[in-house]
Amino acid sequence: MNFQRSQLLARCGRPSSIIERRYARLQRPYQSNHWGGLDQRSRLSKVWTPTGGIAPGANEDAHSKLVRAGFLRQAHSGIFHMLPLGLRVQTKVEKLLDKHMYSIGASKLDLSSISSEELWSMSGRLNAINSELFRFKDRKEAGFLLAPTHEEEITSLVANTIKSYKELPVRLYQISRKYRDELRPRHGLLRSREFSMKDLYTFDLSPNLAMVTYNQVREAYVRLFDELKVRYLVAEADSGDIGGDLSHEYHFPTSMGEDHIISCRSCDYVANEELAESALPPATHDSGANWSFVTSDLGAASAKNTFTVWRGVSRDRNTLINVWYSPREGFQGGSEVNTHAVKSIVSDLDSGVENAALLWAQAIEKNILETQEASPRGAKIVNLVDYRLPSSLAATIHSGEIDPLWTNSPPPSSLGIATSTTAENTSDGKPLNLLRISEGDSCPRCNDGSLKIEKAIELGHAFYLGARYSDPMKAVVTLPAGYCEPAAPTIEGFAEAPVPLNSSQQVQMQMGCYGIGVSRLIGAVAETLADEKGLNWPRVIAPYEAVVIPARGQEEGAVDVYDALAGGRPTSSDVLDVALDDRTNSFPWKMQDADLVGYPIIVVVGRSWKNNRSCEVQCRRLGIKEEIPLDGLAAYIDKLLVQFGANPLGPHKATTSRKAGLSYQRHRSSQLYQTTNPSIMSSPAGQTVDLGGLSTQQLSQVKKQFDEELEHLTSSFTQLRAAQAKFRECLNSINTGVSPKVEGKTILVPLTSSLYVPGTLADTENVIVDVGTGFYVEKSTKDAAKFYTAKVEELGANLKDLESIVQGKSNNLRVVEDVLRQKVLSGNAGAPAAE
Ligand SMILES: [Zn+2]
Repeated sequence: MNFQRSQLLARCGRPSSIIERRYARLQRPYQSNHWGGLDQRSRLSKVWTPTGGIAPGANEDAHSKLVRAGFLRQAHSGIFHMLPLGLRVQTKVEKLLDKHMYSIGASKLDLSSISSEELWSMSGRLNAINSELFRFKDRKEAGFLLAPTHEEEITSLVANTIKSYKELPVRLYQISRKYRDELRPRHGLLRSREFSMKDLYTFDLSPNLAMVTYNQVREAYVRLFDELKVRYLVAEADSGDIGGDLSHEYHFPTSMGEDHIISCRSCDYVANEELAESALPPATHDSGANWSFVTSDLGAASAKNTFTVWRGVSRDRNTLINVWYSPREGFQGGSEVNTHAVKSIVSDLDSGVENAALLWAQAIEKNILETQEASPRGAKIVNLVDYRLPSSLAATIHSGEIDPLWTNSPPPSSLGIATSTTAENTSDGKPLNLLRISEGDSCPRCNDGSLKIEKAIELGHAFYLGARYSDPMKAVVTLPAGYCEPAAPTIEGFAEAPVPLNSSQQVQMQMGCYGIGVSRLIGAVAETLADEKGLNWPRVIAPYEAVVIPARGQEEGAVDVYDALAGGRPTSSDVLDVALDDRTNSFPWKMQDADLVGYPIIVVVGRSWKNNRSCEVQCRRLGIKEEIPLDGLAAYIDKLLVQFGANPLGPHKATTSRKAGLSYQRHRSSQLYQTTNPSIMSSPAGQTVDLGGLSTQQLSQVKKQFDEELEHLTSSFTQLRAAQAKFRECLNSINTGVSPKVEGKTILVPLTSSLYVPGTLADTENVIVDVGTGFYVEKSTKDAAKFYTAKVEELGANLKDLESIVQGKSNNLRVVEDVLRQKVLSGNAGAPAAE
């Protein structure tokens, strides 16, 4: 008697023939269509996966693959239903988030999706982001909205609940649905109007303590993103509408992304374009006499000594903003003008309009018609001249003489329009740098590195909010007289020594907010890893880690294989999350569907099962297809999954191998396939080897050799990186921590990574340096700094060499893999070995 049946009978108390008959009827459809029936196994016949067929559409993107494979369906524009497969992925993402949120002591809660307009007016955001809010009224005409984020609600909750300073710090998070009425929802889950998001809010007693929290969350985020094994970037960012003054963003580089992330090829500088700077090349000092105006058609206008104008208009349409600059050669990707820079000077700039001059002219016309006055009221021109143009030219521009707008019409002065002559410097005295960073510009941090631009999609952020919300929401506590803040190391170095309070004092809670888009993450992973065959999930969020597929007639064997795998893995306490494809579709259909769904591992139970109880294990991402006997199967899959998770260059975070460019994206290898002859590649000695002439076995041998070499090299790379980071940290500590200004003050000395004792620094002139192999030498701080600088540089040089070797080897590996794949495919005409 199986599980459901015994349960059914147990509930009824006695076996009833009617119940038995009904149950038999219930079960019949399963028995007639499927050979397994109902049991505890993860059978795909029991999971509702309405597929859109296994034939790909033309130019299908990852979102269409998600729909076709049955992960989700669109309900309305920018609004989606998660189907069982998609929900499995979402649940796994949530589990991953829970794990890392618990690791920093955050409590999970679930705030209502409905927020009140009243609360949003208090924070001043109701009008600021009005157009993106889903607003509605209840029957009493009270205004509500579907929350796009929860700063207001959580601050109000905490302000009304926390009464004593002793209750802080508090870290609260939720994973919930959020709403944003996007004007143009697009790319499926990447920009939708309803989405799932994890948001953490933290409340601390002081900015210093909030900074400790900030750093702990950032470290947790790095661990979290590392686990996904997808290349990511951590960028310094602008905090935008949310307020606050310290912010980091977590991105996946992808061509679908709408952010531009700037990073340095030599140092660890990474920033969002909105915030990024470049080291400024020297300004031009010629007379400006031989400069000529060109129309701003990109590409054509890159001759020497030419300049052009970009126009913008203010939101009220009264101000025309002209940005004058010299077009640079080879600039690609839209407008060269950095609208963020323009906005920092003219804050009312409407950055979303196409024909600014026309809009401005129409507004003037309307203005004159309405007022019946000769000169338009309030109309104004602001000329901004990029610092690269010679200053004599700037003077002419400011006079309004060379604006092509006035070639056939009266100049602005005769129309009574004020021309504001903005100087070449910003209010804080910096030169007016109005152009976007272009590929190859100099790094502002290390000066000799060149900058790289990548399109990326933002998946997470960390904002230090300070009192941005605790001030209007009155989230305050009172510190008693004599309260002494525990001195905490800040990211700058060391805090001032704590001083006990003379009298009690009311303080605002210092907040941080930290989000990760759950649905967006799912869309972005799909986008980043999908290839021409289908989706590709990282192990940690795959709907199932593996699927068992029987060839025709091997259904019984597939159940045995499934049971052997689902029963637990020898080297891990976890049970393998495996599914059994017991659907009635044909075997080739199931194989194609499995590729489309993107299981990390496919186990085929085919002909060799009957002969010697072995199965074929396939792993598309690793390019593996191997015959494995049942008794070694679980261990082999275990090993593959570990490899699958292994990151070729260690964590791809900002401070490490971000620039290495080794990613899992299969389409990279197909690009390579198109651009180079796949069968010819150069060997280390400089000869070329014709890969096409090698047998599959020889190719596998070559591949294996490359694999091993790469594994060794990449682990060395990671170790070197870690060593370099350690020396950098030492250098930083000397510069910020061992200075005369710290002498005599209380500092916190770490005994372990989480236990500190107060102490004072006795000597700021000398430090003890571990010079290697267990020898410690006392050095002056100056000498120690020199020592560490030399170490960092030495390792940097080694890393550079090693990186190019790794890059070369991995390119070779990809070529071998492609040739191997082509060979296997053509040899088998695409049919899996089992049939
Ligand atoms: Zn740099």
